[in-house]
Amino acid sequence: MSKVSGSCHCGAVRFEVEEPEQVLDCNCSHCRLYGALVAYYPQREVRFEGAPDTFIYQWGDRDLEFHHCRTCGCATHTTLAGTNDAEKIAVNARLIRGLDPQRTRLVQKNNGNDGVFWTKTDQPVLPSHDA
Ligand SMILES: [Zn+2]
Repeated sequence: MSKVSGSCHCGAVRFEVEEPEQVLDCNCSHCRLYGALVAYYPQREVRFEGAPDTFIYQWGDRDLEFHHCRTCGCATHTTLAGTNDAEKIAVNARLIRGLDPQRTRLVQKNNGNDGVFWTKTDQPVLPSHDA
């Protein structure tokens, strides 16, 4: 494992993480519309360069805070609402430079309940958390 870095389109939000072993293609309404691939980390293992200048979007039960760059709008990461040291936050792995699809496993998660994905993988599809 080695450190990899990611940034939004304009570069205002930058972070460093360990190279993910797998990324999640979640087809929930938010991930599907933004084309995000999710990599989970303990919050303290995501090193942001400065405080990320994001706005937060919430919907539904409002348990999650979907962070977007305030300048370019990229979906950058997702945190549990009101938690500064969560065991699990998600970064958008699409923002990570140089990620190699040959080394990083892709896992699909059917949170859209329609079974449709625009990625290919030989891994089994994870069921919805709503199922
Ligand atoms: Zn940006």
